Amino acid sequence: MDNLIGYPERKLKKILEEWGEKPYRAHQIFTWIYHYRNYRFAGMTNLSKVLRQKLEENFCIALPRIILRTPSRDGSVKYLFALEDGAEVEAIWMPETDRTTLCLSTQVGCRLACSFCLTASMGLKRQLTPAEIIGQYIAVNEDHSEAEQISNIVFMGMGEPLDNYDAVCEALRLMVSPEALRISTRKITLSTSGLVDRIERFKGENLHVNLAISLNATDNATRDQIMPINRKYPIEVLLECLRTYPLKPSRRLTFEYVMLKGINDTDEDARRLVKLLHGIPAKVNLIPFNAYQGAPYQPPSQERIKAFQDYLLDRHFSVFVRKNRGTDILGACGQLAVQTA
Ligand code: SF4
Repeated sequence: MDNLIGYPERKLKKILEEWGEKPYRAHQIFTWIYHYRNYRFAGMTNLSKVLRQKLEENFCIALPRIILRTPSRDGSVKYLFALEDGAEVEAIWMPETDRTTLCLSTQVGCRLACSFCLTASMGLKRQLTPAEIIGQYIAVNEDHSEAEQISNIVFMGMGEPLDNYDAVCEALRLMVSPEALRISTRKITLSTSGLVDRIERFKGENLHVNLAISLNATDNATRDQIMPINRKYPIEVLLECLRTYPLKPSRRLTFEYVMLKGINDTDEDARRLVKLLHGIPAKVNLIPFNAYQGAPYQPPSQERIKAFQDYLLDRHFSVFVRKNRGTDILGACGQLAVQTA
């Protein structure tokens, strides 16, 4: 049975027409689900009983089931969801003073094999559907009070979003649609390890959400080693593709840089990074590696991170050291699901 959450409006309109209903009924159904947060057909009181019955027989309205909430000392909460087939994914809810961000997953596992990432050890188990992607957002919001609702979404949990291209684009369309979740494109960030062919395609989607690129190295030998996707799309090919990325005025690309002690944290790396990003409207997020038991890497010292940041700041880059959230609850991507799997 199809889930109406995550279901495209154009498809719903088509079905309603086949049933002899007016297409504006799709708008009414969407309003009930996404604006009034009503997840029962019986509660859709401006639809006829016959239509409600037909919907009941043909569709469900289902959210992923929360099976574990792990609060962190820093206020964030890690959610573990069970999907219909028993697969598990996670999302992290992170309150801050000026925003509340949800980091959500797009795949069960991941096939990109980045050496610093625990999700990689799972391999790719399966793709998430648009319902499962959007469902994480709705389910977590339902778990919080009005004052704690999610304002920002980052696609940085388990999985490479552009490796689940169609479902992610469908989910994004519903997130930004005024008919559905009505989230500003400025508040959504899609992160990619650098699938150049998919970024090229994404340029034409007219979605205009923020794009973050997980760069993590400044030379191909190092990036080949820590992110095998680099062997297919080396740094210069990736950056060439990004130079023509259609950005709205005053928007920038975000470059994520997981800092690994002795691997990518030298002065020489900082110098190369400045050269690589020359001419690209960019902001840089430095993310000290979140070490876990048995991890092959360590984070650099505070002094090293600061020296790296200062070098970029002196060259007029916007550069932030991202706070590691939920380090006590295995907040880095994939860690909780791997632990419980
Ligand atoms: S860092 Fe992201 S792209 Fe790389 S293996 Fe982990 S989930 Fe996949």
